[in-house]
Amino acid sequence: MAKGYNGKVLFVDLTSGSIKEESLPEKTYRDFIGGQGLGARILYERMKPKVDPLGPDNILGFLVGPLTGTGIHGARYQMVGKSPLTGGWGDANSGGSLAAELKAAGYDGVFFTGISPKPVYLFLNDGKAELKDASHLWGKDTVETEEGIRGELGDKRIKVACIGPAGEAKSLLAAVMHEYCAAARSGLPAVMGSKRLKAFATRGTKKVPIADPGRFAALRRDYLKSVKETEHPWAKMLKTWGTCSFTSPLMGMGDVPIKNWTLYGEEGFPNHGKINGDDAFIAKYQTKKHACLGCPLGCKGWFRIKTKSYGVVEGAKPEYETLANFGSNCLNDDLEAIAKANDLCNRYGLDTIGVGAGIAFAMECYERGVITKQDTDGIELTWGNAAAIVAMVEKIARRQGFGAVLADGTKLAADRIGKGSEKWAMHMGGQDVPAHDPRVSTGYTWGYVCDATPARHTSSQVKDGLDKGVLTSPKLDLPKPDILDMEANAPLYATCSDVGRLWTSAGLCIFGLYPETLPLAEVMSAVTGWDFTLAEGLKAGRRIQTLRQAFNIREGINTSEWRLPERLAAVPSTGPIKGRKVDFNAMKANGYRALGWDAETGKPLESTLKELGLKELVGQL
Ligand code: SF4
Repeated sequence: MAKGYNGKVLFVDLTSGSIKEESLPEKTYRDFIGGQGLGARILYERMKPKVDPLGPDNILGFLVGPLTGTGIHGARYQMVGKSPLTGGWGDANSGGSLAAELKAAGYDGVFFTGISPKPVYLFLNDGKAELKDASHLWGKDTVETEEGIRGELGDKRIKVACIGPAGEAKSLLAAVMHEYCAAARSGLPAVMGSKRLKAFATRGTKKVPIADPGRFAALRRDYLKSVKETEHPWAKMLKTWGTCSFTSPLMGMGDVPIKNWTLYGEEGFPNHGKINGDDAFIAKYQTKKHACLGCPLGCKGWFRIKTKSYGVVEGAKPEYETLANFGSNCLNDDLEAIAKANDLCNRYGLDTIGVGAGIAFAMECYERGVITKQDTDGIELTWGNAAAIVAMVEKIARRQGFGAVLADGTKLAADRIGKGSEKWAMHMGGQDVPAHDPRVSTGYTWGYVCDATPARHTSSQVKDGLDKGVLTSPKLDLPKPDILDMEANAPLYATCSDVGRLWTSAGLCIFGLYPETLPLAEVMSAVTGWDFTLAEGLKAGRRIQTLRQAFNIREGINTSEWRLPERLAAVPSTGPIKGRKVDFNAMKANGYRALGWDAETGKPLESTLKELGLKELVGQL
């Protein structure tokens, strides 16, 4: 087995309680790298098609990659499973320190099947796995659960990922929380709730085996130095303030949602400075800077704010997506209320993107008279009503009253409300659109439109390198066509999506792409001992991308029917992107073609499957 891996994964059947360990061939690791790639391989092989995503046959995986725990750039665990939001491929990932601990416990992944007869959690302790009763934890919030598990197991070093009441209630907007970091999107935390799996706890002491420690140490030293000295503007902002500082700059670009995506730029939300994480914001509210384990960027921070209406609120500082969705998207400039809504989401285990987007949608329905106070349990869902936002978060978390209408995303909310409200539901294929306008940077949007998980801002984070014409992390010299030229850009975006899949599957945080200095192929070679080239890595990325898409096709999903909401595909008549016409149909057709998929249906072509070594899929799709 190559270094960098443990060479084995764990399968836990929650119905019977049986736990089995399985070694995987080295070729599987080399072909699918780890994380979501390895997860895609295992789920495609072992999950029957068309299973109920919230039933016993869905397989929920937690995985790490070969670079997890090496300290090169953070360490994110990745979740995989069939998405109850889209009905197709689902993945989500999160930072903190759990990924490194899982790897140190001796495994590259843990997969859960079945449904437990009672609430349980898995404790994986240095190679020994045990299911433990979690009945006393059911109903507890995520902070209480993490602390409770560490307390009862008597070891503060145990890392815990868990669901809160929202995941227990199978809200499709739930998040799995660990150290205030959320793994949300794709609805996978609801799958955890459906399995009555309250938490996954792990502790390990095994060191990551590294093939060439001297070479790796030199590469890491150079990389850390480059991050320290980086002049890359977004990397510097991340290092100094975190994503909370993106709000005003992105507002200036017209990227931020305002009033459920009906207004644009600074004119649409002049008070954006009140919710932007600049020096004053950080000096006032950040009590301590924080980083995921082994991350030189360290974009996180602990936050404390004394509010007039909600007492002291403390926890993780709000991220950009949270500020945008609970802020400008709801026409709300009350930072105290955003901090409270953020903290409630963290504790109940909710995705701030979907919850904020859902409340903005509901506010539009309310304004248009489609719903009234009688429908909303007496809550006045008027634009900018900060107290109403906080009250709705509570209701969504517990599926109480009108909260039950919003608890599963805007698509299902519109189905429940009816009366033409689907026009104001900003989702693609059931997944709510994140806080980046698809017309601003087409490299970003390519991921919304062409990836196997729709409307995901984290699936195409390589756009920044593309905008500059050079993607240097890893070093790729690429031309720089006009961003509206869908034909010329398609092969570049496809290559960038290969990088994204490779990067994430290796276990890295996508923000590590910003400094543009991590020599991924060299690092992979030093860690694994393989003679790993960038070409091989890009091919693995394409293989992973294609297998995720094959999963969708096998589920009967025609991904070409996933469309951006009309409002987001239209030509803006005002603001920073006034008059910009993006041909999203051409983006999709050219994108699919560039990936080696059918331009109309998104079905991977036979020649592509053969080229990628997936010939067993030929005839299956
Ligand atoms: S950049 Fe931020 S989210 Fe990514 S690993 Fe570092 S601290 Fe965590």
